[in-house]
Amino acid sequence: MPDPAAKPDTAAPKVSFVSLGCPKALVDSERIVTRLRAEGYELSRQHQGSDLVIVNTCGFLDSAKAESLAAIGNALKENGKVIVTGCMGAEPESISSAYPDVLAITGPQQYESVVEAVHKALPPQHDPFLDLVPPEGIKLTPRHYAYLKISEGCNNRCTFCIIPRLRGDLVSRPAADVMREAEKLVAAGVKELLVISQDTSAYGLDIKYAASKWRDREVRAKFIDLASALGELGVWVRLHYVYPYPHVDEVIPLMADRAVLPYLDIPFQHASPDVLKRMRRPAAQEKTLERITRWRDQCPDLTLRSTFIVGFPGETDADFEILLQWLEEASLDRVGCFKYEPVKGAAANDMAAPVPNEVKEQRWHRFMQTQQKISTRRLKRKIGTRQKVIIDEVGPTVAKGRSMADAPEIDGLVYVGSRRPLRVGEIATVRIERADEYDLHGSAVGF
Ligand code: SF4
Repeated sequence: MPDPAAKPDTAAPKVSFVSLGCPKALVDSERIVTRLRAEGYELSRQHQGSDLVIVNTCGFLDSAKAESLAAIGNALKENGKVIVTGCMGAEPESISSAYPDVLAITGPQQYESVVEAVHKALPPQHDPFLDLVPPEGIKLTPRHYAYLKISEGCNNRCTFCIIPRLRGDLVSRPAADVMREAEKLVAAGVKELLVISQDTSAYGLDIKYAASKWRDREVRAKFIDLASALGELGVWVRLHYVYPYPHVDEVIPLMADRAVLPYLDIPFQHASPDVLKRMRRPAAQEKTLERITRWRDQCPDLTLRSTFIVGFPGETDADFEILLQWLEEASLDRVGCFKYEPVKGAAANDMAAPVPNEVKEQRWHRFMQTQQKISTRRLKRKIGTRQKVIIDEVGPTVAKGRSMADAPEIDGLVYVGSRRPLRVGEIATVRIERADEYDLHGSAVGF
């Protein structure tokens, strides 16, 4: 037991951290931060007064790159000592040419290199009082939900995407590893696990679905086996980035039984067979509309979220009309839509004639208007129902939470009035009274 009186009178080295990009990048940030905290570094939200800044960048779209570069510039101005990591680190010259003064640049998932660069610039100070890190690691997400990354990289080669080049081919974590991390998170108070990867339904393909020992049994590194094992932990389990391979049908009964949340995040990206072919999307040939109908028959309150790209090179008016028609029929709950942006190095850029910006703009508006009506209609159906809501934030009169249909940060909210104060992380039963464009409003009727 260390003696407090013996504590050296030296301040811990302080690191400020900027995490940009997708949930997958956030998980990388959490790993780096956990490691640094374990070594006695202190974290700060302010660049000024910190000894060093780490910027975890996103390099997916030009706009994300611009945001990353601006964050690096800002960190240099406010602090001066900056280490850059993340997706943009895969192209170090794009950073060093703009900012030759950055101390080090490392690529995505290179936790060791980031930590090494920090050691070099700011050596760790051993302090037994600071070296105590909670066993579940440090979460940048609120304590009641956490992202669970099940694999890195991707074996697909979608023509608009450079992620496989940046992050490499699929590397799955053994199932027991994932399950142990999930258990630790749950033991630490996490109530909702958000399963992420580049292609969740391809989980385990690279390790031939190898089984590994968790508790007293073997669990295969297979999408359905992992989903069902996670479902035993007694918390909400939300599946993101699932491609509609045929075996995805197997997870629907688990959703109907609430072992995992009745929520599927499937990035469809388009509906025109020609465009999908040129995009080289995985599982593009599956008859998705028929399958959606079947899924809903089996699990009527299934929420489907997706993202789409309009203005992909060579997209014709006819392709776009197919997409709108498909959208009407699919009647998805939550949808994001991006105007195609040529990403440097993506094969799609030279595949066909670019769609003029004004056409992209028009199509985006039409798409959004169409979907808006669908989403509003689907939300309205919830008025009068009772929904389980996980509370994210509490205010003096109204708390903000999310139903099973809402993932954090990307979907809507439920505003909850309550006779008794609610606590962050608790799951309340809420009677839904009103719906607006994106959100629901209601009163807590059960705790
Ligand atoms: S599935 Fe396609 S879009 Fe997603 S990471 Fe892999 S290559 Fe990129």
